[in-house]
Amino acid sequence: MSKRIKTDVLVVGAGMVGSALALGLVQRGLDVRIVDQRWPPLPEGEFDLRVVALSGQSIALLDRLGVWSQIAASRTAAYRRMHVIDGTSEAFIEFDAREYGWPQLGVIVENQRIAALLAERLGVQRLDDGLSEIDGTRCTLASGDRVDAQLVIAADGAASPLRERLLIDSDGRSYAQSALVAHVRCERPRSGLAWQRFLDGGPLALLPLPDGRASMVWSVPIERATRLMAATGTEVERALATASGRQFGAIALTTPLAQFPLRWHVARTFATENVVLVGDAAHTVHPLAGQGVNLGFADVDCLLAYADRALKTGRRMPSPGELLRYSRERRSETMLAARAFDALNGLYAAGGPWVALRSAGLSAVNRIAPLKRKFAQIAAGVRSAAS
Ligand SMILES: Cc1cc2nc3c(=O)[nH]c(=O)nc-3n(C[C@H](O)[C@H](O)[C@H](O)COP(=O)(O)OP(=O)(O)OC[C@H]3O[C@@H](n4cnc5c(N)ncnc54)[C@H](O)[C@@H]3O)c2cc1C
Repeated sequence: MSKRIKTDVLVVGAGMVGSALALGLVQRGLDVRIVDQRWPPLPEGEFDLRVVALSGQSIALLDRLGVWSQIAASRTAAYRRMHVIDGTSEAFIEFDAREYGWPQLGVIVENQRIAALLAERLGVQRLDDGLSEIDGTRCTLASGDRVDAQLVIAADGAASPLRERLLIDSDGRSYAQSALVAHVRCERPRSGLAWQRFLDGGPLALLPLPDGRASMVWSVPIERATRLMAATGTEVERALATASGRQFGAIALTTPLAQFPLRWHVARTFATENVVLVGDAAHTVHPLAGQGVNLGFADVDCLLAYADRALKTGRRMPSPGELLRYSRERRSETMLAARAFDALNGLYAAGGPWVALRSAGLSAVNRIAPLKRKFAQIAAGVRSAAS
């Protein structure tokens, strides 16, 4: 027989962002349920192909949620240096955390490790089910169970069935690019370095893994992605050595390639009267700046701040007005980021006079210390006051 559950908040989607928000709300004493059909196990053995570069602000959030020390205990790689190169002119900018007295610029962690360790902290709140219908805040799950919540959170990823059901449109577009992802072993590894080389087809990034290998994220035009997916390992490795400017010597694939079509989108609103969008359900950005989940964790931070304000004034839940303020604040920040990364991707795809202009810009920022520090703060997600 189907069950009927009453709760303060229903979170739809137990990815990194949904689970972080659910945990934060539980810790504030709210009655929360979180529903997903795919609860990730803690990865063991081979590293999960999907990794993220976490910024200082994301790490601080996970620390406040009480999970960071467990996440950081193994299988993570901090990077202290970042090197960004224009592949046409070889102009570059480099950042070193030691120049600013920071312990690191960021930490590479498997997506699944973050999601699994957050989910472990959620107990009775977890529902192994999927959302299939929503009518106001009355939700019907795939099993036929019903959940009545005061607030529903859409944390159901970039394709967000919930956002679609609510007919919330997005700004954005599909890039004619895919990200090819694999773990690789370099002949000349450079530990503690996050490295990115901008090529006219898209950037190639190599991020350090804790076992000395690197996580490769290579954005290429779709036709090239199709050809590389069909190529032999040796052909891909040869193409990679060329794309990297041979700065790491030979590069060997140690896992199969995976392909992710790229698009950016920012939902037109992040909140209706009683449904709130967070993470990729609200926005996706080009991976060139490694900011996707960092923006999602910033959504969580912002909503938890509104939840705190409500609790301080004796309310269990943020008001519809506060949800709209959340929507405005987060939408304007993510729109700015999405457009900036879009422009950067376009700038590097352009040739001719743009090459000289962008190279001069990169070299100038590298020389002007206060400007470079500002860029380092953005890249590392460090708030000005803390730096
Ligand atoms: C190649 C690549 C590299 C990237 N690198 C970085 C990086 O270095 N740094 C960074 O910050 N970001 C990076 N990102 C972005 C980052 O991976 C995403 O922003 C992040 O995974 C989004 O997390 P999420 O929790 O919002 O969504 P998801 O991880 O997509 O989770 C959504 C969840 O919702 C569930 N769901 C869907 N429908 C339903 C339903 N009907 N009912 C119940 N549950 C449902 C799904 O099962 C899933 O578990 C990268 C992205 C790509 C493609």
